[in-house]
Amino acid sequence: MTFRKNQREIIIAGNWKMNTSLAEGRGLALNLSERVKQFPFSTDDSAKVTVVICPPYTHLHFIRAEMMESTIEMGAQNIHWEEKGAYTGEISAPMLTEIGCKWAIVGHSERRQFFGETNESVNLRAAAALKHNLRPIICVGESLSERESGATFDVIGKQLMIGVKGLIEILENKEFTSNPFVIAYEPIWAIGTGKTATPEQAEEVHCFIRNTLSEMTSENIAERTSLLYGGSVNAKNASDLLTMPNVDGALVGGASLDVEQFTEIIRSAFSSY
Ligand code: PEP
Repeated sequence: MTFRKNQREIIIAGNWKMNTSLAEGRGLALNLSERVKQFPFSTDDSAKVTVVICPPYTHLHFIRAEMMESTIEMGAQNIHWEEKGAYTGEISAPMLTEIGCKWAIVGHSERRQFFGETNESVNLRAAAALKHNLRPIICVGESLSERESGATFDVIGKQLMIGVKGLIEILENKEFTSNPFVIAYEPIWAIGTGKTATPEQAEEVHCFIRNTLSEMTSENIAERTSLLYGGSVNAKNASDLLTMPNVDGALVGGASLDVEQFTEIIRSAFSSY
């Protein structure tokens, strides 16, 4: 069975990074929660838009408690692979599910660049998330020099081969309409720079990612996997990116802190069907 774009889950995820005080974060989340009420969220799993926010760890419990009735889902910005133990500064999957998180970003380029995360550790984090029913958003992407030297597909191919290895086996006995893990293509040169990949550049890499996933798993699973684009997505460029056939959502940094812009990006997701 081949999925069409309009049968895949469209996901708009906001990565707040290390931003907002608790008071600001609560205000932002509540404001967003009011605004998204205008959208026709559906419970039909075969065609839907999912909105996720990933505030700092310290905010998750408070925001979630205030948004129990909201359609917005909560995500963490990272996760450790062990359930507990002597890992100072880390947070585990059970700690996150206990407070109502459904998602975790793994392998963000800032984690790779500043905190030494590797494809192997990204794989461990993604596996731990799935084992505990958290949905990992697995980030991949090339640097500017890698793109300019023609290494984009090599780099992303390797990130996928290692990062996604064994994940399908974890899901073996689970029924799903949408793949529980999603991939975010985030060219490093486009993150926080105001430079966006063109819709065609994003589509080209997303096709490559879907083909690679198909080879690693099956066509059926690859077709059910939502592929998000991230890198300076904003209210103006979201619509053009989201109408591409293999762009199934966005991972949004800066613009997710601006409720007007994030609402417009969500609107573009609803219109992209
Ligand atoms: C991100 O951090 O995942 C991101 C895409 O940031 P920005 O939208 O600010 O480029």
